[in-house]
Amino acid sequence: MNLVLMGLPGAGKGTQAERIVDKYGIPHISTGDMFRAAIKEGTDLGLKAKSFMDAGNLVPDNVTIGIVNERLGKSDCQNGFLLDGFPRTVAQAEALEKILSEMNRSINYVLNIDVDKEQLMERLTGRRICKQCGATYHVMFNPPENEGVCDKCGGELYQREDDNEKTVKTRLEVNIEQSKPLLAFYAEKGYLRNIDGNQDIKKVFNDIDQLFGGLR
Ligand code: AMP
Repeated sequence: MNLVLMGLPGAGKGTQAERIVDKYGIPHISTGDMFRAAIKEGTDLGLKAKSFMDAGNLVPDNVTIGIVNERLGKSDCQNGFLLDGFPRTVAQAEALEKILSEMNRSINYVLNIDVDKEQLMERLTGRRICKQCGATYHVMFNPPENEGVCDKCGGELYQREDDNEKTVKTRLEVNIEQSKPLLAFYAEKGYLRNIDGNQDIKKVFNDIDQLFGGLR
């Protein structure tokens, strides 16, 4: 199964990605994770990506397309893959079409986990993180036993600076604008499937799983 996963910040992409790769035994390929690993290891790729990432910009297409091309050629991708965070531009999407067609393959589905903007605002601004151990909570959906205190280590909980309402709103708007041309590209190709991400985690996965029924 050759899949692309899309969704705005807070849509639950990470959670669903974990479940998909677990059940279907395909590798989870996240370009963000690959860049972060390269930076940690201090490789050439890491050096190239770091300045762009630190400034909150996209890493140039030629670099990003290069690493995805190499990764998709690895043997563990033979039965499929789940791309996450790639493509982010139409140029990347076009390059992916070309890479796959050279392998005589094509995308099966582009899953777009669709969540209302108000719900995303609530999910993102309610996030709290432990200063000591990094555990994450949500004031409404996953509150700690005692307000402001980590259940795991007793550390103090705080709100990340970029999780405040104004920044979250901007982040969402920028993401919505960036994803529009990509969604249009994939809708036109017939790959796009919108998944209702407003439901609880299990229901969302169930919808995805049902969609895959015909491909197993
Ligand atoms: P993510 O973890 O997916 O949010 O990615 C973190 C950062 O990595 C992004 O803000 C970009 O700087 C970079 N990045 C990840 N994926 C891509 C991509 N497909 N194209 C360009 N830059 C990317």
